[in-house]
Amino acid sequence: MLKYKNISVPDKGEKIEVDGANLIVGDSPIIPFIEGDGIGPDIWKAAQFVLDNAVKKTYNNKRKIEWMEIYAGDKAVRVYGKNQWLPNETIDAIKNFTVAIKGPLTTPISGGIRSLNVALRQKLDLFASVRPIRYFTGVPSPVKRPQDLNVIIFRENTEDLYTGIEFKSGTKDNNKVLNFLNYEFKKNIRDGSGIGIKLISEFGSTRLVQKAIEYAIDNDKKSVTLVHKGNIMKYTEGAFRDWGYKAAKKFFGDITITEDDLRDKYKGVLPIGKILIKDRIADNMFQQLMLRPTEYEVIATPNLNGDYLSDACAAQVGGLGFAPGANLSYSIGLFEATHGTAPKYADKDKVNPGSLILSGVMMLEYLGWKEAAKEIEKAIKRTIKAKTVTYDFARQMSGSKEVKCSVFAKEIVKNMK
Ligand code: NAD
Repeated sequence: MLKYKNISVPDKGEKIEVDGANLIVGDSPIIPFIEGDGIGPDIWKAAQFVLDNAVKKTYNNKRKIEWMEIYAGDKAVRVYGKNQWLPNETIDAIKNFTVAIKGPLTTPISGGIRSLNVALRQKLDLFASVRPIRYFTGVPSPVKRPQDLNVIIFRENTEDLYTGIEFKSGTKDNNKVLNFLNYEFKKNIRDGSGIGIKLISEFGSTRLVQKAIEYAIDNDKKSVTLVHKGNIMKYTEGAFRDWGYKAAKKFFGDITITEDDLRDKYKGVLPIGKILIKDRIADNMFQQLMLRPTEYEVIATPNLNGDYLSDACAAQVGGLGFAPGANLSYSIGLFEATHGTAPKYADKDKVNPGSLILSGVMMLEYLGWKEAAKEIEKAIKRTIKAKTVTYDFARQMSGSKEVKCSVFAKEIVKNMK
């Protein structure tokens, strides 16, 4: 078994193996977890409790997750020492054990790391951020028909403005880049402008769109929408759209059609077994998801659009406290709460653990343990129906009973059959 300096590998259990596109999962997979900072320990405890009970009840004690703690954020600094926000061991353990789950992490203010989440995504090449957005009956929502929104967003996770290539106004490097653009390319950039570089590649766009279409195929979805701002940023966002259509044609040409095909060849009726590939300009897409949400199922989009769009969609169905997420590479799956560390609520056992629990549900589905995943979903629905909720929902639900984070988890477990 593998040896680490500060990570204790459980004696029991087995490593998940990867065989091409498939995972080989035993009855007691070892799964690394990062508890997270701020509210992380509270929501992790709650999520672990729910996941363990669901697995135990669903499989009559035949299956069990062997949890293995790994470290990032404040706790990593406590365990490994100064500036050790993201120890190499943590990265190695995720690579070795393939599937992991994490709570939210503080963004360090020193130590040369911009964001631990971005660092994790880049070091592990987790190129797809996957965010399912759907409504649980009874959750307070600001829109009239939140149940109409049921989409899954595939956000490119490694490129775009997030590569961190920036030049601060007034610095020598900034002047160099600015002069280069002004003189070599006859641009007219204002003095003192900050500069950030937007990078979108065919490689990055293709693999993301492929993943989105594969998901649509596996889950019987009828459309994949490429969301971009290609009308303005032609060679980055526009290229994403073009490469997306190209990937659809090249890898899935026999089952995908475009909106032109739909109109010209199929009289507007999608043939059975085909997937419609369409594209929408990002600003329009924000309207579309409010006004015509039922027309969208799977969305594939570059990093920045995906960042905005996933939070906006989450708000429509009840906010970030209930929005799960996963970061995927070809083989690794890192599941995570999508909100931050909410420091003012740390150690108060108060916040909503729903986001991390639902990320755990995604993780169970990823493992192929779909029955346990379903069990949790049903229990969550019953708990919300009974109006036993944490403060964030309670203040918006009349007749509700506000409970602590840990009690909410216990209620979910009680509501499992
Ligand atoms: P935040 O998501 O931590 O909190 C914003 C507000 O949202 C909170 O004050 C709270 O009212 C609400 N909220 C968040 N999670 C909730 C939950 N589970 N239940 C109920 N209400 C909840 O965002 P922030 O204040 O901008 O960021 C705080 C820290 O978290 C920063 O250091 C930031 O960099 C980090 N962050 C981490 C992640 C991540 O690890 N994925 C994501 C975003 C922010």
